[in-house]
Amino acid sequence: MANSELDPTVRVRFCPSPTGNPHVGLVRTALFNWAFARHHGGKLVFRIEDTDAARDSEDSYNQLLDAMRWLGFDWDEGPEIGGPHAPYRQSQRMDIYADVAARLKAAGHAYDCYCSTEELDARREAARAAGRPSGYDGHCRELTADQVAVYRGEGRRPIVRFRIPDRTLTFDDLVRGPVSFDPKDVPDFGIVRANGAPLYTLVNPVDDALMEITHVLRGEDLLSSTPRQIALYAALAEIGVGNGTTPRFGHLPYVMGEGNKKLSKRDPQASLNLYRERGFLPEGLLNYLALLGWSLSAADDHFSMDQLVAAFDIADVNANPARFDLKKCEAINARHVRELAPEEFVRRLVPYLQAPGLLPAEPTAEQLELLAAVAPLTQERMVVLSEIVAMAGFLFVDPAEFAVDPDDAAKVLTADARPVLEASIKALEELADFTPEPIQAALREALVDGLGIKPKFAFTPLRVAVTGRRISPPLFESMELLGRAETLRRLRGALELLPAA
Ligand code: GLU
Ligand code: ZN
Repeated sequence: MANSELDPTVRVRFCPSPTGNPHVGLVRTALFNWAFARHHGGKLVFRIEDTDAARDSEDSYNQLLDAMRWLGFDWDEGPEIGGPHAPYRQSQRMDIYADVAARLKAAGHAYDCYCSTEELDARREAARAAGRPSGYDGHCRELTADQVAVYRGEGRRPIVRFRIPDRTLTFDDLVRGPVSFDPKDVPDFGIVRANGAPLYTLVNPVDDALMEITHVLRGEDLLSSTPRQIALYAALAEIGVGNGTTPRFGHLPYVMGEGNKKLSKRDPQASLNLYRERGFLPEGLLNYLALLGWSLSAADDHFSMDQLVAAFDIADVNANPARFDLKKCEAINARHVRELAPEEFVRRLVPYLQAPGLLPAEPTAEQLELLAAVAPLTQERMVVLSEIVAMAGFLFVDPAEFAVDPDDAAKVLTADARPVLEASIKALEELADFTPEPIQAALREALVDGLGIKPKFAFTPLRVAVTGRRISPPLFESMELLGRAETLRRLRGALELLPAA
């Protein structure tokens, strides 16, 4: 990184709302903010936007924190570590928002709006029909004390609305360049509900101002809220909330899913948990997600997080929608899997064998040795870590529960397999040295030379009998790892499964 790019004044934020499960769009936003902060030697603020009691949940909050840790992100201020602008959960900052709203009103930047939903709807319809702009019409901007008294007498409770100034709202987007909005397209908007609950429209910019955020990098879906926030920023500066500067904004491109539709957070393909469960590596998934709008170089789409941090520049992010390509995501992950050092690969596999109960919470030294022995036989072929279950589960399964795949058995364990199994059992019983080379030599001699069967046909029934599947790590190594007694037991067990000749 060029030294000139170091800028410790950079302060970015990741500020999800704890609703539902974390999704890949959220992860990409977190990644770009994290990379931007680390690239510049600045700060990443992690803030929880939990002002919507009806939708936010503690479970979702815990999942967010867990996801951030699993992905390997660190933050300089936020939950669990605190910081100079604590608290970092908006639900604990309600007094601040009430105070700011009152000050905005006192300064004339906001006002009480008594319109009922029905009235707003009716006027919106009428405006539409007449071809006029259909946003809020400013009805309550200048209510007299008498009108207010009447409304109050009717039992109405007002919301607080922000007064949009009558000027063009412009900003220079870090991703898409200059953007400007005509004030007639940006109606006055609500900032506090009638029950006193502050809205996203208020709390998000207020906290960005108070937390002295310098760059707001977020999804394009929020672009339409930016002109309102710019106007609000100017008002906040005037009443002395924050340090008076407006952050730079950069809107990250949409992510398109199946059928070229925007990937929605409800789309199963978008769920981070799915990728974790399948066994994507955080570094593999993040490498891929970075490509949704950014690239290290045209020549190479494979990189480490260190490389990303060293090279990341928000100006290089492409404004065009990015397509989520699961196949590419898998291919990139497979490469990261292959690059893991052997011990690290083993360490990462453990939870995937624990999940289906093939390893206990505290694996024994013997079990870990077995895993270390089989792991190298699987690493080259693995796309996601959960594949270890299919590839090597036969070694860890309780012998009493071992079963061959019924489809594979139907195809391979036919009456023809009887002489193959019988000859193999005999050859292996007599074998002095139960290691791959002697095993292979003995089986070849018994089956290929002895019975005249082609190797391809000779070994497939053995593979299914011993590993349970037609696809497995190399057969002779698998037998060695399983041990002679269990190998023979499974070969005999397979004999029982054969249809009568
Ligand atoms: N809590 C907002 C969201 O989850 C944050 C939006 C923003 O980054 O400004 O969409
Ligand atoms: Zn009104």
